[in-house]
Parts: sequence; C-alpha cells; structure tokens
Amino acid sequence: MTGSAPEHIVVVGAGLGGLRTIERLRADGFAGRITLVGGEDHAPYDRPPLSKQLLSGEWEPDRVVLRDRRGLAELGVTARLGTRAIALRGTGVELDDGGTVTGDAVVIATGLVARRLPHQPDGVATLRTLDDALALRRALGTARSLIVVGAGFIGAEVTCAALGMGVQVTVLETLEVPCERLLGREVGALAARLFTDAGADLRCGTRIGRLLDGRTLELAGGTVLSADLVLAGVGAVPDLSWLDGAGVRVNDRLACDQRGRVVGMAGVWAVGDAAAWWDPAAGAHQGGEHWTLTTDRAARAACDILGTEPPVAGPPYVWSDQFGLKLQVIGRTDTADELVPLHGTGLAGGPVQGTVVGYLAGGALAGVVSFGAPARFVRYRALVAAGAPRAKVLATIG
Ligand SMILES: Cc1cc2nc3c(=O)[nH]c(=O)nc-3n(C[C@H](O)[C@H](O)[C@H](O)COP(=O)(O)OP(=O)(O)OC[C@H]3O[C@@H](n4cnc5c(N)ncnc54)[C@H](O)[C@@H]3O)c2cc1C
Repeated sequence: MTGSAPEHIVVVGAGLGGLRTIERLRADGFAGRITLVGGEDHAPYDRPPLSKQLLSGEWEPDRVVLRDRRGLAELGVTARLGTRAIALRGTGVELDDGGTVTGDAVVIATGLVARRLPHQPDGVATLRTLDDALALRRALGTARSLIVVGAGFIGAEVTCAALGMGVQVTVLETLEVPCERLLGREVGALAARLFTDAGADLRCGTRIGRLLDGRTLELAGGTVLSADLVLAGVGAVPDLSWLDGAGVRVNDRLACDQRGRVVGMAGVWAVGDAAAWWDPAAGAHQGGEHWTLTTDRAARAACDILGTEPPVAGPPYVWSDQFGLKLQVIGRTDTADELVPLHGTGLAGGPVQGTVVGYLAGGALAGVVSFGAPARFVRYRALVAAGAPRAKVLATIG
C-alpha cells in the first residue's frame, strides 16, 4: 500500500476470497481493525462441497463452514453478516442497514450470482449458495425427473447427485460437448461419455426456445420437455450494481492491476470471482471462477496491502468431482494448438478414467487435463508452470 500502513481494512463479501484475505492479513502481522461485510446470514462457507457432498446428503451444512462467528471473533474481525454493501464512496462502504464503514483500504470479494435463463420462471432452480443447495437437495428428495440446462461443472455434479438419488436426468447443452471452451471438442467428448455412461440423457447441440413454466420448456425445434424439476446450470455473473456510483465503469468483472488494485479506485482491491487481474503474460485482464485462484489472489492482495512479500502465482487450476472421478485442469487449455495423450486410452476410445491429456501451444506445455489420475497429473504441474517443451513433457510420461 502506498503511504502509511492501514489501521482499518474493510472486506466486502464473506466468502472464500474475503476470508482468505483476512487470514493472510493476520498471518502477516496486521494488528489493526478488520470489518467483514457479508450479504448472507451465514458465516463464511466453502462452495465446492455444495454441489458434491452436501447435495448428495453425505455432508450436513456444518461441514462446509470455513470459519464460524466465534472463529471470526478470534481473528479479531468485526463481522457484519446479513448486511449488504449498497454503495462505495472512496473507501467508505455504505450498508443496507443505513450505516457506513470507512476503512483505509477496502477489499471487494463479492463473488458471483447464478446466471438466469432468459425469462426464467420462478421454480427453476439455480445453485450458487448454501441455501440454494439445501433447497435443491430437498427438491431432489421427492423428484423423479430432472432437466439440467448446461453441462458444465455444476451441471455435471448436480447430475451425479441426482442420479445417485434415483432421479432420471436429461441434460441440455448448447455446445457440441460439455465444457467445450475449457476442454476443447476432443477432450470434451470424454466428459460427454461420463454423462452417458452414468445413465444421463445428454443432448448436446440443443437450444432452448423458451421456458413455459418452472417445469416445462420448449426446445428451439419445438419439442416440449418437462420434468419434476429444472435446474439452470448456465454459469454465473458478478452483481456489481452496488458500485454504480463509485466512479468507475464496471463492464463485467472488476478490472485490477496485477497486484489486485482496482483500476481507477484508490485504496480498493478486488479478489475472487468478481475480479479480473491484469496478466502480463496474456496481455489481458484475466478472471477465473476457481477456488485455488481465489485463494492465491486473496493472499497476494493482502500482501500488497501490507507491503509484505507476496506468494508466487502458479498456473490456473480447477477441479471437479464428477461421475466417481476427479477431473483436474491446470494451465491455459484455451491457447493450445495441439493435444498430446499422456496417459490412458480415453482419446482412442478406451476408458475415460485414467486419461491425462497435454495441451501444447507452439510446442510448449500450456495445460493438462486429467480424468481420475491425480497422482499422474501432479507430475505436470511444474512443467505447465515452466511452459516445458514437448520433448521434456514426453520424457516425463515414464
Ligand atoms: C456450487 C459450487 C461448486 C464449486 N465447485 C468448485 C470446484 O469443485 N472447484 C473449484 O476450483 N471451484 C469451485 N467453485 C468455485 C469457487 O467456490 C469460487 O471460485 C469461490 O467461492 C469464489 O470465492 P469469492 O470469495 O470470490 O466468492 P463467494 O465464495 O461466492 O463469496 C462471495 C460472498 O459475497 C457476498 N456478497 C455479494 N455481494 C455482496 C454485497 N453487495 N455486500 C455484501 N456481501 C456481498 C455473497 O453473498 C457471498 O457470500 C464452486 C462454486 C460453486 C458455487
């Protein structure tokens, strides 16, 4: 931070990014005041289990809590939970209870809200929050059929949980394969096999014409489908409307420099899903909706606020637990111009489980995708970080 050390830091958003920022501030010796403003009544909780262990009934809500109110108090945090930020004036955060908290530094970690389908009727489920997950779990408990719109990670994980509860699942995906933008067409076809092998009715290249009500929809070709429950798993978007008067134009995510400082807002940092940090290698602001990136950037922003040494950033990493295996993705798969099978025979029509694929860009390793082979996958982390040449990658296969 430029100038004197902060005395009071206000963190807006009591999710993963907000909490990890606070934990790093304290770990690095910050002894001043911290106020945490959280729109939900819940203490900070972890979202990945919502669509996995919590939805399937394996876990109860207490297991997803990252730090309860007592834990926050032990960290010396004044927690204003159940309170939304409605405006930002300089470093003064205006709250929906009429109050204002002003810090020397503000960290915005307000995450995303579930994207809605056009003209989405009430009754169509989404999954972003703990309350959403509990409501969906209850609904699946009595449903016999489910339509999932979107075959991304959330769609896949909900499909798994529903199939496990004996629910018949139809999955509608606009693109030709699940997660096509992340995995590409060829590897996405392996993800598609996971759905169909598990018994889901996966319909790719399918467009929805309109939703007729909370349980019925019409496809672009006129076919009408209905189920006991419809879930929209079509991604998530930031809700930064509360910053409308803050003097910066927010197009989508909050544009930050490579230390997490919000461009055009002095004394304000942003972390987590709502932020897009400048990536000099990519020459662009890069967002990301992943747990590890949120944790890394929270630590780096905290260090920047305090002027302490930030941890080294690794390549982007995301995982999903689906259909009995861990799907792991590291690096920039979207920049690749060539695929290299590293382990397993999934790309040749063999089992998906155990398949690991390298993504090369200009002959250098840009990313790796692994289907249920975590021990093998881990070998490639450092190679992706270093952009290792093909020969070195092939020599690692062993
Ligand atoms: C169901 C689900 C499963 C996931 N699974 C995985 C996974 O397997 N692997 C993976 O890598 N990532 C996964 N993720 C993504 C990961 O959880 C997110 O990247 C991470 O939670 C982002 O943290 P965040 O702090 O930016 O946002 P969040 O954790 O969403 O927290 C933001 C908080 O800010 C609050 N807030 C918003 N606006 C305001 C306001 N104006 N005032 C006050 N508070 C506000 C929100 O209510 C929310 O509590 C999953 C996400 C979801 C939803």
